[in-house]
Amino acid sequence: MKLTCDHGTCKAIYKKNPRVGGTGTLLLRTYYEKATGVTYETTYGVKEDGGKYKDTINVVGGELEEGCYLECCFREYCQEFSPIAADYYLRNGNVEYEISEQWRMFNSIFKPEKTDTIQWFLKGNTVIFIGRLPSLGGREDISKKLREKKNKRGLKWCFIETSGVDLVDINTGFLIAGGPSVKCPTSSYMDEVIGMIHKEESIRDKVDIVLSRNAPRVF
Ligand SMILES: [Zn+2]
Repeated sequence: MKLTCDHGTCKAIYKKNPRVGGTGTLLLRTYYEKATGVTYETTYGVKEDGGKYKDTINVVGGELEEGCYLECCFREYCQEFSPIAADYYLRNGNVEYEISEQWRMFNSIFKPEKTDTIQWFLKGNTVIFIGRLPSLGGREDISKKLREKKNKRGLKWCFIETSGVDLVDINTGFLIAGGPSVKCPTSSYMDEVIGMIHKEESIRDKVDIVLSRNAPRVF
C-alpha cells in the first residue's frame, strides 16, 4: 500500500504499520436510559447482512480502496451507518457520497474539540478510529433508514451491507436492551475491540471513558 494523501494522521499510522489494510470504527455514545435513569458508555455497532460476520452486530469498517485511512474510515461510516448518508443514497442512488465536501462532518465525529486530534489505535493490520456521536435519534429510526436503503433497487452491495444498528455497552459487552429487534449477538471482532479497551490503558485513555469496576462478560 502507498499513501495517496497528505494527512498527518495517515502518515503516523503508516509509519507505525505500513501493512494496515483496513479500518474499523468505534462510534461512542453516552446513552442515558430514561426509564431507569442509568447512563451507559456504549458504542454503536451495525447488523451485518453478509460476509464473515453475517447476522452479528459488528464494528463499522472495511478494506482500504485508496491509500488514505481517513477516507476509508469515513466512506465505511457513510455506507454502513450514517443516517444522513442513507438519505443521500435514497435520493441519489448509486452515486458516491461526496466525501470531499463532508470533512466537516468527519471532524465533528472524529476530532474532539478538547484535543483537536484524531484518535486511533491498531488492531493487527487494521486501524480502529475513535469517534463520538451525539444522539442521532433512536436506533429504530437509523435501522429503518438502512432497511429502506436495502429496498432501493440498483444500489451496489457495499451500500447495503447492513440492515440495523444497536448499542453495545462497553463495560459489559452486552447490547443495550430496548433497541431494535435485530436479535443477533455481537461479533467476535466487536468483542475483541471492546476487550482491547479493557486490557490496554493507552487505548482506554484515548477512548476517554470511565469503565465501571464490575466484571465484564468477555475479555
Ligand atoms: Zn489520509
